[in-house]
Amino acid sequence: MGHSLSKASHSDPREFASPKDASQWREYDYIVVGGGTAGCILAARLSEDRNTTVLLIEAGKSEDFITKIPFAFVKTFKSPIDWAFKTTPQSALNNRVISWPRGKVLGGTSAINASIYHQCAPEDFEEWERLGATGWNYSAVRPYFLKSETYHPSPLYPGVDVKERGTSGPIQTGHHRENAPISGTVFETVKALGVPYTDDVNTPKGTAGVVHFISTIDQSGRRSSTAAAYLTPDVFSRPNLTIAVNTHVDQVLFETTESKDPVAIGVQVSTSPTSPQYRVRAKREVILSGGAVGSPQLLLLSGIGPADELSKLGIPVVKDLPATGKNLSDVRTFSTSAAAP
Ligand SMILES: Cc1cc2nc3c(=O)[nH]c(=O)nc-3n(C[C@H](O)[C@H](O)[C@H](O)COP(=O)(O)OP(=O)(O)OC[C@H]3O[C@@H](n4cnc5c(N)ncnc54)[C@H](O)[C@@H]3O)c2cc1C
Repeated sequence: MGHSLSKASHSDPREFASPKDASQWREYDYIVVGGGTAGCILAARLSEDRNTTVLLIEAGKSEDFITKIPFAFVKTFKSPIDWAFKTTPQSALNNRVISWPRGKVLGGTSAINASIYHQCAPEDFEEWERLGATGWNYSAVRPYFLKSETYHPSPLYPGVDVKERGTSGPIQTGHHRENAPISGTVFETVKALGVPYTDDVNTPKGTAGVVHFISTIDQSGRRSSTAAAYLTPDVFSRPNLTIAVNTHVDQVLFETTESKDPVAIGVQVSTSPTSPQYRVRAKREVILSGGAVGSPQLLLLSGIGPADELSKLGIPVVKDLPATGKNLSDVRTFSTSAAAP
């Protein structure tokens, strides 16, 4: 989209002052923590209702030119817009430590990823529901995939059924990559091995087969991150949406009573490890969209997690929830491995 972000809609965290007196905290209906892939969409959709106030808080900056160039994504690794996480030594990888890029910028990891548009397999969503995420089965989420996408057909790929693709959503998709000379050989080889060719892996037919994948790249060749797609100048200028960048959420604040589960009532933020901290209240909900690492980390720092581990670290326990921050597994194509220490 190539727009510059309007300065007027950014908020100075100092405006959130008054850490002690809760009655004076600045208030919003919703506080969205993390302006990444999910957070930008949530903030844009929630603030469509002009009677709803929304605060989106992002630790990284508002934009970076390099995020607009899809194939420059490897240049973002270990740059200021990458959290540049590292795993603990992995026993299944001969104890190697693996680099783990994650976007730290509006758009989050959608601003630094490989731009492959892949919705995942229908069975994945069925499994989510089986595991307890009621309402997240494939037929329930499919309309939202269609609503979020505008697919631009290409005469080179006539087999893609446009009826299976979205036609008026904010995320721009299409076929953009030139085939490398070797790809014909690869396709022939997998065909000979019995793997079928499929025109599109993002349909109810599922993901089996070899495909020329669709990318989240717009018609001018720029990355269609969720920041570019959803935080358009119109959205930025909404008076009911406030976006605070370079602002870190340090803690979710909870109201606790003897009889009920703790209720999130706001967040504590800062702009650097040595800056003052400020508090903001959520009248309706605090929504965590800090990513697979950021969200559980923030819960742990806020006292939601395994009580014994939190106590050892001196974090007051708000709720003993042993599974928080556990059981993460990740399978990636782009793993840039670091040498073992
Ligand atoms: C190198 C790489 C390539 C990939 N390629 C693809 C691909 O081609 N196609 C695909 O579909 N997927 C790809 N993925 C995966 C995909 O990009 C991610 O799964 C997805 O973007 C995650 O979205 P999210 O909203 O959960 O988190 P993120 O997009 O990571 O958003 C989290 C946001 O929260 C912010 N945040 C975190 N903690 C705090 C805090 N305490 N305070 C304030 N802000 C905070 C972060 O800065 C970030 O902006 C790739 C991932 C990587 C790393």
